[in-house]
Amino acid sequence: MAAFTTFTSLTLPKSTCHQPCQTAFCAPVWKPINFKAPGGHSISIRGPILASVLKHEVISEVSASTVIATETRGGSAKPAAVLPFRIGHGFDLHRLEPNLPLIIGGVNIPHDRGCDAHSDGDVLLHCVVDAILGALSLPDIGQLFPDSDPKWKGAASSVFVKEAVRLMHEAGYELGNLDATLILQRPKLSPHKEAIITNLCALLGAHSSILNIKAKTHEKVDSLGENRSIAAHTVVLLMKK
Ligand SMILES: [Zn+2]
Repeated sequence: MAAFTTFTSLTLPKSTCHQPCQTAFCAPVWKPINFKAPGGHSISIRGPILASVLKHEVISEVSASTVIATETRGGSAKPAAVLPFRIGHGFDLHRLEPNLPLIIGGVNIPHDRGCDAHSDGDVLLHCVVDAILGALSLPDIGQLFPDSDPKWKGAASSVFVKEAVRLMHEAGYELGNLDATLILQRPKLSPHKEAIITNLCALLGAHSSILNIKAKTHEKVDSLGENRSIAAHTVVLLMKK
């Protein structure tokens, strides 16, 4: 049975490290590193703070915000549940069909076609949601808001963003920054960028200085380049509050 303990400081000798930092300075260690600790516990820890500390060969003054997963003898390994930073990536793609609205970032964009989707088909908001949920290691947008549920038929995607933001705060995180790339051949997005950013700021409760939106064409190749689909990537950094 795994148990979780938060340490504000911890000192262990170098010899207990099974996987010391291999890099010059402070590289993230994504695989859990296991230690034997006083009291008969196995300790599993991962994250950039540990890597920098390991470089100095002695673990001390581990951040109070770093939770170390511990397990009693005979239990199964469990990764750290809380990290000072969490990164998430979201991707989404929708078919474009005639006579449908094209909504990007909550903004209605004039175009000869729009997204075919169960909800409003907002490709940007969908991948923003998945980036936040991914950073939190939570189920993705399709699992939280299944397209088999009539409740979400034609739903405004702002509902999904608000729920992802609520879950983010519930987990004790805030948005560090967000970077998104939209891929579409037409229309030009630059005239609408400001409105999209303003809308995202309101939905995320974030200042515009931590949000970035880019748009690229697909060089007229494949469905994206032939105005038959639209896609978006989003990366977010969440910070422990
Ligand atoms: Zn979508």
